[in-house]
Amino acid sequence: MYRICFILFSVSVAFGQQDLRMYDIVNAVSATRIINDVETLANFGTRHTLSDTVSQTRGIGAARRWIKKSFEKISADCGNCLEVFEQKNYFDADGSRLTRGVWINNIVAIQRGTEHPNRYVIMSGDIDSRVSDPNNFTSDSPGANDNATGMAAAIEAARLLSKYSFENSIIYVGLSGEEQGLYGGKGLAQYALDNKWEIIGILNNDMIGNTDGIDGVIDNRSFRIFSEPTPPTETERERKQRRFYGGEVDGISRQLARYVYTTTKTYMPEMNPMLIYRLDRFGRGGHHRPFNDVGFAGIRIMEAHENYNRQHQDIRTENSIAYGDVLSGVNAAYTAKLTAVNAITLASLAWAPAAPKELAVGGVVAPDTQLQWSPSTSENLRGYKVYWRDTTSPTWDNSMFVGKNTQTTLKGIVIDNYIFGVATVGADGHESPVVFPTKVMR
Ligand SMILES: [Zn+2]
Repeated sequence: MYRICFILFSVSVAFGQQDLRMYDIVNAVSATRIINDVETLANFGTRHTLSDTVSQTRGIGAARRWIKKSFEKISADCGNCLEVFEQKNYFDADGSRLTRGVWINNIVAIQRGTEHPNRYVIMSGDIDSRVSDPNNFTSDSPGANDNATGMAAAIEAARLLSKYSFENSIIYVGLSGEEQGLYGGKGLAQYALDNKWEIIGILNNDMIGNTDGIDGVIDNRSFRIFSEPTPPTETERERKQRRFYGGEVDGISRQLARYVYTTTKTYMPEMNPMLIYRLDRFGRGGHHRPFNDVGFAGIRIMEAHENYNRQHQDIRTENSIAYGDVLSGVNAAYTAKLTAVNAITLASLAWAPAAPKELAVGGVVAPDTQLQWSPSTSENLRGYKVYWRDTTSPTWDNSMFVGKNTQTTLKGIVIDNYIFGVATVGADGHESPVVFPTKVMR
């Protein structure tokens, strides 16, 4: 009996999963509230970036004012726990999808962290929509799935997580100008740089409501996590080092993607997260990219099975096929599940200590592998967890908790045959993303 208890304890320490608040968050997501918000957004007629900003009922102006009010109402319900503001930049006509100069206004809601107010995890959806012609800013463009679902999910996550307090800050944001060239993301990424935000990662949600795929598959459990392999900001020296020490699939965005995968598998085991090893869909784009462009970790969360008849389409029927991104194409329960995936990932990252800043690995021509990392200064630190995996594995399959030591030797683990990383573990079991070594011990 003693033995069994001991084994159970070890397992729970090794794999986390002991924070019951995570299940409360999953269960609190409301499909009804989400679909109501999707409907409200769709009913603004069009939310095209160049559409009317003055009307109270139609156009992107009315939509963004409603989003701002929604965040303000949530804030009023939590003792003003959200800082809600409009972050805007003026962009000139670009000769393509910005046919004239326009203000691109993002709506930002910050839930300030108690210990690390300048360290952020971000969840984004988009405000704007489009039809067949990307420059048509007057026709009805409900954008119910693309991307009222991502926007409604961010609002719902704010509702749920504003009931808790976190050591890191959480940002819920509606970005504009996505369809015209990722302008809102560019503006906010620059704002983050200017204000020296320390960004843990951005979870960009774009189309999280379709379950009835153009490929004929109907699936309400799978979803995709897109992440680029390595940052585009890496130096030539880093690129050369990778050739000898590895890291082709271990950039910061990829680690964030693995974090979403693991958190989902831990707290929502019925779901089927798919790690997709590319920046985005083939040749297509999304609002995590401007953040990646300047060196921040960012991923795209998205339905597994898209329906192109319901994206970027004029509302019409042709050869008995109904086209258009209308409300009936959104599965409320599925959107709620992907909202829960976001909410538990945000919560876990916002409750976790910062990842080690630096990690060195050594063990060339030796039977053991050594790891050494910079200490965490968090008061909430339980210790560190060392991870390793086969070079061909997409996930961190092996781990060892090493307490508050800042170095360890993995006996009998030959460095050539595995990939290594380290994460910090907080008092409640929440972990930082895994850090990949950037130094070699000699
Ligand atoms: Zn789109």
